Amino acid sequence: ALRLDTGWTIRWIRRSAEVLAANRAALNTLDRDIGDGDHGENMDRGFQAILPKLEEVTDETTPGAVLKLVATTLISTVGGAAGPLYGTAFLKAAGAVGAVQSLDAIALVALLTAARDGIVLRGKAVEGDKTMIDAWTPAVNAASAAQTAGSPVGTVLLAAADAAEHGAQSTEPLVARKGRASYLGERAIGHRDPGSQSTSLLLRAAADLMSH
Ligand code: ADP
Ligand code: MG
Ligand code: MG
Repeated sequence: ALRLDTGWTIRWIRRSAEVLAANRAALNTLDRDIGDGDHGENMDRGFQAILPKLEEVTDETTPGAVLKLVATTLISTVGGAAGPLYGTAFLKAAGAVGAVQSLDAIALVALLTAARDGIVLRGKAVEGDKTMIDAWTPAVNAASAAQTAGSPVGTVLLAAADAAEHGAQSTEPLVARKGRASYLGERAIGHRDPGSQSTSLLLRAAADLMSH
């Protein structure tokens, strides 16, 4: 069975770094359309900076400690809006899971909820503002529904990834009310929000580990 332990958490972050590197140009392009063109660069820089730190992680480390390491690295290496937002997300996620050795479905929902709430606390976006929250909130809702229905942790994760992907797509017809894209008014219509896309990639990377 799938066990979301420290090893899994490390594999998730490594896989995320790979996926973000592979999507660096695509995320920059999305951000060039409605922002300043650096979202891929920002995310890639942040996750590459985490990789050497993961090498030093010891056996006593917990999933929460890995999430905290991710948070502090993102906060110190990623500029712009996304650095503090994702940094806060991972920091709150770390706090929510505490010192447990492995995450069950309830802990996974707590992790996702705390991450989303951290982003909202920091950035004050609501659903429909055309931000990463449009991926996070459907992901939290879908994960919570799956967990309540008694689904195993892998199914909860898949529900979150699918909802985030859908949520990222749903930003395309929207006018932005937060971030740089909000300066564009109706010119933002027809373009996907880059942060919602990176959120979708991160959650898909987690769900994809089920088959590894
Ligand atoms: P910057 O726009 O400062 O260059 P990035 O390009 O790295 O930073 O990140 C842009 C992304 O940050 C947007 O696509 C959006 O998803 C997200 N974002 C911006 N402002 C907010 C906010 N207030 N709340 C939530 N997400 C936001
Ligand atoms: Mg940008
Ligand atoms: Mg920028």
